[in-house]
Amino acid sequence: MDYDQVRETDPAVADALEGELERQERTLAMIASENHASEAVLAAQGSVLTNKYAEGYPESRYYAGCEYADDVEQLAIDRATELWGAEHVNVQPHSGTQANQAVYFAMLDPGDKILSLDLTHGGHLSHGHPANFVGQLYDVEQYEVDPETGTIDYEGLRDLAESFDPDIVVSGYSAYPREVEWDRIQAAADAVDAYHLADMAHITGLVAAGVHDSPVGIADFVTGSTHKTIRAGRGGIVMCGDEHADAIDKAVFPGGQGGPLMHNIAGKAVGFGEALDPEFQAYAEQVVENAQALGDRLADHGLSLVSGGTDTHLVLVDLRESHPDLSGGDAEDALAAANIVLNGNTVPGETRSAFDPSGIRAGTAGITTRGFGVEAVEEVADLIYRVVDDHDSEDVIYEVGERVEELCDAHPIYE
Ligand SMILES: *Cc1c(COP(=O)(O)O)cnc(C)c1O
Repeated sequence: MDYDQVRETDPAVADALEGELERQERTLAMIASENHASEAVLAAQGSVLTNKYAEGYPESRYYAGCEYADDVEQLAIDRATELWGAEHVNVQPHSGTQANQAVYFAMLDPGDKILSLDLTHGGHLSHGHPANFVGQLYDVEQYEVDPETGTIDYEGLRDLAESFDPDIVVSGYSAYPREVEWDRIQAAADAVDAYHLADMAHITGLVAAGVHDSPVGIADFVTGSTHKTIRAGRGGIVMCGDEHADAIDKAVFPGGQGGPLMHNIAGKAVGFGEALDPEFQAYAEQVVENAQALGDRLADHGLSLVSGGTDTHLVLVDLRESHPDLSGGDAEDALAAANIVLNGNTVPGETRSAFDPSGIRAGTAGITTRGFGVEAVEEVADLIYRVVDDHDSEDVIYEVGERVEELCDAHPIYE
């Protein structure tokens, strides 16, 4: 892969693109929300559909010349329907955040009540954080994870729902390693006649492959990202039952967006097609197996895992017990210098701050795409531990960085 065509007209941007390609090749993308899309997905995203206006929906557009845009969007919808089984799918949200905003805009009035997980406990900005407009427009209350187990406090959630009386309960998380029990959240929402939005952003691919329980058919609305555990390029998706189809479609366009990004929708169609291949199921199983191997090995080294392990693609390490003087941010910097790219993350009961948190979050979706199996992942865990434990040693960072480059060379992402 190269950017020769860009270089002909714009060497400065070509330098940045080639730099980024090289960075991805020689580092481990262990930020839990990242993955590597196929060249086919990248090509679809870089296609002539970026030129096309297609406001509206297939067979019902506000512009002429949409026959191929219609084909692509219908393929994306049909494949998403096959993957997740929802009655209605909208593939136009530009991102997962915009998918969530469409649900709020469709179903709530300003001032209505949202009950969602606290950000430091694994929630997401788009679930009502005051820095997002959702937090300013609606009345937000937040539930937490159980401090003992690190898993959702379903009973606490039910009690809070009863006292707060929300209009919508939001589930689905950014830094939650365990399987979500969608039906228990649904029961809490039902008890107070609230809607339930299940935001499966991180686990969209795991759900598609059947390695995590699906919220489709349980929650009223299901949103997702298309670039995390599924490799369909950057974007969002929203699903619901037929009774809410019109409201959701109107809330996406014209409610929150203008023309759909048809090139990204082409990427979604290609990526969804790839996920329908039986190989994808094996991939998703390997992602989880790798995350469990990563967690087990880090725990063997004495690191403390929130919830004690993982059922998903990510582990969340609480550094406070083993390395009280090391913040997640400093660990992130040291690891990045050693070519292991993950992020500092808040942990339940955070005692530092969102800017200088106490944990690190690591995901296996990206490294599994490039062919890492359990053995390689165990070595990666050893390397992570070496850096964490000796984060001030330039020699350690250098040696680990060299070894990571060797591992990366053995597992190229692109041809
Ligand atoms: C990643 C994520 C999203 C979507 O993020 P975008 O960057 O807007 O695509 C939404 N919800 C949760 C829980 C997430 O982790």
